[in-house]
Amino acid sequence: MTEKELILTNLLECSRHELYFKNKPLSKEQERELSKILKLRCAGVPLQYILGFSEFMGIKFKVDKRALIPRPETEILVETAIKYVSSIPACGGTGKYQVSSKNILDIGTGSGCIAVSLAKFLPNSKITAVDISQKALEIARENAGLNGIADQIEFMQSDLFSKFEIPALPVGRRISNFDIIVSNPPYICSDEIKKLPKEVQYEPKLALDGGCDGLNYYRRLIKESPSFLGEGGLLIMELGIGQLEQVKNISEQSKRFIFIEAIKDYNKINRVIVLRRDRENG
Ligand code: GLN
Repeated sequence: MTEKELILTNLLECSRHELYFKNKPLSKEQERELSKILKLRCAGVPLQYILGFSEFMGIKFKVDKRALIPRPETEILVETAIKYVSSIPACGGTGKYQVSSKNILDIGTGSGCIAVSLAKFLPNSKITAVDISQKALEIARENAGLNGIADQIEFMQSDLFSKFEIPALPVGRRISNFDIIVSNPPYICSDEIKKLPKEVQYEPKLALDGGCDGLNYYRRLIKESPSFLGEGGLLIMELGIGQLEQVKNISEQSKRFIFIEAIKDYNKINRVIVLRRDRENG
């Protein structure tokens, strides 16, 4: 829907179809509300923050300034994780591919859009969702509740893995904590943030700022995640524009992961990277 359609369908509480085919005039109250919305929009407040919701993977999410607004590109990250879970043969498998039960960790969950949609689309999976921001966790919990999957997600306040205990078993006998770790980390270079559109300035800096080269969180995720991934476990991350080669380099230097694939978004930008924990070195 266009912004205009989103505003009007929301005000009139009607569908897009009804907007065009039913003659629904605005009441005085709705006109006043419309003026308020337009004022905020002209000031650059993102429409999703004004309306208080956003759609992601066909699911409605509550959004406000406590967390980043879900982006359509991030749906590719979710779709990739779903694809891998669905194509891993179930344990003791008969060779049949089926959606098996997986342990998935979402690092930097923000609004919870990734964790909640994974829980919805992979009802057998158990999701752990982590964020450094208590405020983000509040809204993520609200979204889990609103979507009826709160019992499938465990929320945790942690700066990446800082609150996790490293399993003390030797390599090879390690308990596989997670089958998949997904993350849409902050990946914008610190200096670039103020050059972004004014809408983005209303979003939490913490969710955007990836340090002076934008790669801080990839370094940390690649270094710290092998201890929490089962053998052959996957690290699936969203990438910023032009970051694929740099992130591949960080991964190669770590010698902990094998590069599996990169997936492009609708603008042909490499948007998602899939790494597998190396059995030999991990
Ligand atoms: N995709 C967001 C943007 O371009 C950034 C999200 C992030 O840093 N992970 O505004």
